[in-house]
Amino acid sequence: MTHLTERMFRLGTESALEVLGRAEALKAQGRPVINLGVGAPDFRTPENIVEAGRQALADGWHGYTPVIGLAELREAVVWDIQNRQGVEVDPNHVMIVPGGKPTMFFALLMLGEPGVEVMYPDPGFPIYRSMVEFSGATAIPIPLEETNGFSFDPEQVLSQVNERTRLIILNSPANPTGGILGRSEIDILVAGLADHPDVYVMSDEIYSRIVFGDTEHVSLLEYESLRDRLILLNGWSKTWAMTGWRIGWGLWPASLIGGAELLQINSNSCANAAVQVAAVEALRGPQDAVIEMVNAFDERTSYTASALDDLHGVRCKQPGGAFYVFPNISDTGLTSKEIQDRLLDQADVAVVAGTSFGDGGAGHIRISCAAGLEVLEEAMSRIERFLESV
Ligand code: PLP
Repeated sequence: MTHLTERMFRLGTESALEVLGRAEALKAQGRPVINLGVGAPDFRTPENIVEAGRQALADGWHGYTPVIGLAELREAVVWDIQNRQGVEVDPNHVMIVPGGKPTMFFALLMLGEPGVEVMYPDPGFPIYRSMVEFSGATAIPIPLEETNGFSFDPEQVLSQVNERTRLIILNSPANPTGGILGRSEIDILVAGLADHPDVYVMSDEIYSRIVFGDTEHVSLLEYESLRDRLILLNGWSKTWAMTGWRIGWGLWPASLIGGAELLQINSNSCANAAVQVAAVEALRGPQDAVIEMVNAFDERTSYTASALDDLHGVRCKQPGGAFYVFPNISDTGLTSKEIQDRLLDQADVAVVAGTSFGDGGAGHIRISCAAGLEVLEEAMSRIERFLESV
């Protein structure tokens, strides 16, 4: 008999990866499945980055690197932050990790425990709640309202903060909604947090470069008063189409960087050496490919949101960033899970039920625009035919 720790039963999962598995199995049976379920860009990593990785392997980058990452890469991250946010940060507070997820894993292992509360966006990236519960802390949802462009109500958040609150998780641009947190909401939240100096904030800004039109991305780094309790999560997966390379970075406050390093020593040792060299090229090399990818996501999401909004029983907001649209399908009379299952079984289109992202996702589905326009057009006509048949 297998004995698992009790906390293993509190771990959640990422349904997008499960839907991907089902879609791939159907494809293997010869079904013409269009997969709009997975949260990964469909582009190849830009060639200059691939070449840098290839060269790094040829040059002998085969061993461990320092635990917190190559100095050259941490300097490149600091340079990038300076360019984009105009903020000076200490390279010794930047830790390179294998992907975006380890930063949240480490943050929750350090801050979550029974008796404390952690607030997280709902609907939101499912791993937040999963990790909060794994840590033993109580997960308190921050409702994101469709009527508010999927932003949050800072007064509502502040009214829930109490002596047990240890961490507030924010994500903008957001998965699964494509929503952006506005400057005025963040201003109010940060001002209110002055009364709660022991509450940490983890800002997941992994989609920060994927913003559309004149939408403004506000980084939590801009707020001086939060600097000593801000964990900033970012990485290469989405911006440079590098999900499979497994590389990301976290910026940690002085009070947590030592603990983060210890957790890295006890788990990954360090991020992959050759990938770290390639990641320097991603930051410092030409950015044309990033601009092209962001423009493509802009065009695809605006087409898809308008096409969905025209369908009977569907309402869809234009996202401000990331590459998802999150239509409201409640007027179809089907639940989001029913739509997910039936679209895959009957129309060969893989999408993810909104409830996979929390109770706040009920009545929605997430469509990832990680496919070309013609494929999206075909998917929209399949969805239209499906909805006419229900
Ligand atoms: N944060 C958000 C909001 C995401 O959507 C994802 C991936 O889907 C991640 C973090 C994790 O990124 P990575 O694949 O680099 O671990």
